[in-house]
Amino acid sequence: MLQPIEGMDRIGEENAFAVLARATQLATQGRDIVNLGIGQPDFPTPPHIVEAAVKALRDGHHGYTPATGILPLREAVSADLHRRHGVEVSPDNVVVVPGGKVTMFFAILMFGRPGADILYPDPGFPIYRSMIEFTGARPVPVPLREETGFGATADDVLSRLTPATRLVIVNSPGNPCGGVMPKAEVAKLAAGLAQRPDVAILSDEIYSCMTYDGEAHESLLKYPEIRDQLIMLDGWSKTYAMTGWRLGYAVWPDQLVGHARKLCVNAHSCVNAPAQWAGKAALEGPQDAVAEMLAAFDARRKAVVAGLNALPHVTCATPKGAFYAFPNISGTGWKAKPLASALLEEAGVATIGGPDFGIHGEGYIRISYANSLENIERALGRIGDFLGERD
Ligand code: PLP
Repeated sequence: MLQPIEGMDRIGEENAFAVLARATQLATQGRDIVNLGIGQPDFPTPPHIVEAAVKALRDGHHGYTPATGILPLREAVSADLHRRHGVEVSPDNVVVVPGGKVTMFFAILMFGRPGADILYPDPGFPIYRSMIEFTGARPVPVPLREETGFGATADDVLSRLTPATRLVIVNSPGNPCGGVMPKAEVAKLAAGLAQRPDVAILSDEIYSCMTYDGEAHESLLKYPEIRDQLIMLDGWSKTYAMTGWRLGYAVWPDQLVGHARKLCVNAHSCVNAPAQWAGKAALEGPQDAVAEMLAAFDARRKAVVAGLNALPHVTCATPKGAFYAFPNISGTGWKAKPLASALLEEAGVATIGGPDFGIHGEGYIRISYANSLENIERALGRIGDFLGERD
């Protein structure tokens, strides 16, 4: 009998992939499914980025690269961080990885162990809790509340620190609720965490380019007092519609960057070379496509929020970031997961039940509005018909 470590029984999954598989299966059977489940831009990667990858292949970039990424890409990341956040970051602190998720994995592996507390947002990206449990650390959920627009407050986080806390995970703009931490809260959080130099911070800023209604994203990188504690995760997946390229990066503090490099060497050697050249072209080329995608997401966001609030017994706070809405469905009499499942099986609309994002997700479903306005309107019509029939 094989005996994998006990942690393997605790490691979880992302239900969005199971919903995607079921939606695809139903579609293959001839059902007309509108997919508001999966969290990826529905746009193609901008052509100049694709061309850069093709050129890299033609130019012979077929071999291994340095483990943390080619220097021109890490320099491009430094320049981009300076452009967007006004901060100085050495390319030596940038570690390029196959998707933002890998940074999460590395950071939680580095700090998770029995006896350690790790704080994470709930509802939140399911992989945080999955990995924390895998390591045997104690997962400490920081509840995100509708009343505060689903942005964590500094007090929500700081009040949960214990002497055992080793890592704090924050995610703004956030998945699955679309909440954004206002600048004042980010500043207060940085000041509070600076008092605990023994606590590492993983700031998941993968949606940093996606904020609306004049709400600006405030990066924790801007706070020198926590630079030695901060792992800042960002990447190309959402901003440049590159989820399938598997390309992401993080800025690691001096003390940890060597560990991160060794994990790269042990895990994957390096990210595939053409994707790295494409990533450089994305950061250095025209940003028009990013602005166009953001404008499209904004129009869809408004349509989704208005449409959801017009449904019987549903209310939806206006999300300020990412491309998700997190409507409150508790008034419908349905539990979230059965509702998400019935919407898929009976109404042909894929969504994700809030509990798939944590213990504070009951009463909500996640709607990804990374789909065309036309499909969004069709989905809203179907959800309305479905809920109306059950009234
Ligand atoms: N962080 C959050 C909050 C996400 O929602 C996602 C993807 O859905 C990721 C990280 C992972 O991004 P990547 O596709 O670059 O691994």
